[in-house]
Amino acid sequence: MNEMSTSSHAVELEADPVCARAPVGLLAELTHRCPLQCPYCSNPLELERVNTELSTEDWCRVMRQAGELGVLQVHLSGGEPTARKDLEEIVKAAVDAGLYTNLITAGVLLTKERLQRLADIGLDHVQLSIQDVDAENADRIAAYKGGAAKKHEVAGWVKELGLALTINAPLHRQNIASLPRIIDYAVEVGAGRLEIAHIQYYAWALKNRAALMPTEEAFMETARIARDAKERLKGILVIDFVVPDYYAKFPKPCMGGWGRGIMNVTPSGRVLPCHAAESLPGLQFDNVKDRGLREIWLEGDAFNLYRGTDWMKEPCKSCPRKEIDFGGCRCQALALTGDAANTDPGCSLSPHHADWAKVAREESHNAAPDFIYRRMAAKPAS
Ligand code: SF4
Ligand code: SF4
Repeated sequence: MNEMSTSSHAVELEADPVCARAPVGLLAELTHRCPLQCPYCSNPLELERVNTELSTEDWCRVMRQAGELGVLQVHLSGGEPTARKDLEEIVKAAVDAGLYTNLITAGVLLTKERLQRLADIGLDHVQLSIQDVDAENADRIAAYKGGAAKKHEVAGWVKELGLALTINAPLHRQNIASLPRIIDYAVEVGAGRLEIAHIQYYAWALKNRAALMPTEEAFMETARIARDAKERLKGILVIDFVVPDYYAKFPKPCMGGWGRGIMNVTPSGRVLPCHAAESLPGLQFDNVKDRGLREIWLEGDAFNLYRGTDWMKEPCKSCPRKEIDFGGCRCQALALTGDAANTDPGCSLSPHHADWAKVAREESHNAAPDFIYRRMAAKPAS
C-alpha cells in the first residue's frame, strides 16, 4: 500500500486525544476475488466469498461517509478490485466525496478502455504490483500465465492517460536477485514511486515463510542497492523501502498505530483497524451495514482495544519508543507469542525475539519448499 501523508485538512473530532483526528486513509477491500495466487498475499487465509460482498449502494455510502468523516485517501484494493463490475460507480462516489483515489491492482483484468473510463471519472493514482521482471519467474510466483507482459502494457496505459503510477514490488528470496532490474523497470515505465516491499509475514506469507524468507546477507544487499538507487534517482523516482520485521531492531508502527490513521473495510463490510485484525480471537468487528464509519472510528470496541498506550505490558509500557511504534503489530504478537498484548516479537527487546528470529534465519538457509498458493478454500459440504 502507498504511504499516506497527513494533512491539515484532517477533521478535528471532539474525542479522546488519541483519535482526535479523522483517519487519513480508508483501505477498501472491494472483493477477495483475484485471478492471481500470490503465496504472500495479505488477505486472510479464509477468503470472503462473492455472495457476501457489499452491494454497490453500500460501497457508495461508505465513500460518502468517509468524505464526511474527513478521510483524505481511499485505497481501492482487494483481492483484485477490477473484478468488481461496479468499480466505476464506486470510484465516482469516492471522487464526489472529495477523496483522493488510489487503485491498487495487479492489472491483469484491465483494458485500456476501462482505465480510460476510470481516469475520466477522476481516478487519481494507480498502484500496480509486479512479481518480478523475469516474466517466467513472475508468472510462476503469481501462478498466472502472461501476467508479467500484461502488467507492462498496463503501466504504459497508466502513463499515457496521465495518471500517477506507483510500482509495488514485494521482495522475497525467490525474486530478490532481480532488485536492480526492478528499479530499472520502474524508471523505464515512468513510475513516480517504487515501493520495494520486503514481505511482511502474516496470513499467506506466514504459511509460506520458509519459501520466501531471504538470508540476512541478501536482505542487507537489497538495503544497499535501494540506498544507492535513492541517491542516484533523486528527482526521477521516489523509492520506499520496507524492511522485513525479522531483520529489524524495532518493529514498525502497525498501520501507523492501532486506530490512529487507517480504517480497513473488508469485502463483506467488516471494519478493521488493520487488515490482519480478524486473526485476533474474541474481537467483535462492526459492519458498515449496521453502523456509520464515524461512530465505528470513535466508539467501535475493536478500534479502542489497542488504541493509544494504556493497554501495554512491559517492556513496551516503560519504553521511550512507545509513542513511535506503538508496540508494533498485535497480530504478529498473537501469532508468535500467544498473546496479542505482548510486545511484537519483531522488537529486539521482546523476550520472544531471539527464538523467533532464529527460526526464520534457519529457514532462510534451508532449501525453499514449494509454494502454498493463495486459493479460496473448498466450500464445506452442506
Ligand atoms: S497479493 Fe496477489 S493474490 Fe493477493 S490480491 Fe494481490 S495480486 Fe491477488
Ligand atoms: S519495547 Fe515496545 S515500544 Fe519499545 S521498541 Fe519494542 S515494541 Fe517498541
